[in-house]
Amino acid sequence: ALCETQLEALEHQVAGHGGVMRVGDGKVIAKPLIQREQEFYEASAQCAKFKAFMPEYYGTLQQQVGGAADGNATAAGPSYICLENLTAGYEKPCIMDVKIGSRIYDIDATPEKAERMLKKAQESTTGSLGVRICGMIVPGAAEQPRDWFRKLTPETIRDAFAMYFSAADSMVSAEYRRFVIKQFILEIEDLAAVVRSVETRMYASSLLFVYDASKARYDRLVSEGQCSSKSDSGDSDDSDDAEEDEESSDGLLDVKAIDFVHSHWVPGQGYDELYVSGLENLVEILRSLLVIEEPAG
Ligand code: ADP
Ligand code: MN
Repeated sequence: ALCETQLEALEHQVAGHGGVMRVGDGKVIAKPLIQREQEFYEASAQCAKFKAFMPEYYGTLQQQVGGAADGNATAAGPSYICLENLTAGYEKPCIMDVKIGSRIYDIDATPEKAERMLKKAQESTTGSLGVRICGMIVPGAAEQPRDWFRKLTPETIRDAFAMYFSAADSMVSAEYRRFVIKQFILEIEDLAAVVRSVETRMYASSLLFVYDASKARYDRLVSEGQCSSKSDSGDSDDSDDAEEDEESSDGLLDVKAIDFVHSHWVPGQGYDELYVSGLENLVEILRSLLVIEEPAG
């Protein structure tokens, strides 16, 4: 084959249906193509402020199968969409997939499917909060089965978030843990403002969180002066994000919206209130983690 792109299973897939591949050196991932998701990525190219909260989209890829031995034309294999790997470049990536929004069935779901999905939503914090942790990878923390996350309640979900941030504390410092949480809050508030200003419906979509729990990398970035609080850098909305490079983020953390298999642009229909309400509840939970707890009596 002229183009032999190496596809391997993604090592850091924290949730979902599987089948997500890393491409070549791992800066790009390939996700099995679903037309609705491809359409959402392509339509989002028109909206720079929303696109800034998505992984970079590089188009589609079709795997070729066979053909090498007998010299016949290769057959078309599975199709993928190619996306920026949000977890690339981290030394000790702590990754979490959080589903946003209390409705998880699409606009064209059959009444039966809608009913099933309504019931399913009510069995997790999706129904109550519009926030559900699907899974996480935290170096140094005990791995939990996906079912454990599904069974969390509005009371216990905070503990799971605390678990996600525990590596920042144990591997870097308590100060770094607070920095990471605060940065994520700022990012999610920015995203909520953008989502309020566009007309989308995003059902069963997620936020993918990643931060680095590497002390060595933290120390390096701090000494290079890159680790500054976003609130101090006077981020303005009018800056055009056409040329995004390393300097635009501190490189220690990132949160982006992913999984648009049930997402649509809906001109004329107003903003996605259920999605925004999930983001608001998420911010509230993250804020609660910053409150200094009194020791129990
Ligand atoms: P599904 O439709 O199967 O739920 P997702 O888009 O949610 O697919 O992806 C499943 C998992 O793959 C995510 O939980 C995450 O771990 C990983 N993943 C997806 N997109 C990216 C990305 N752009 N960068 C890094 N990891 C990703
Ligand atoms: Mn998913």
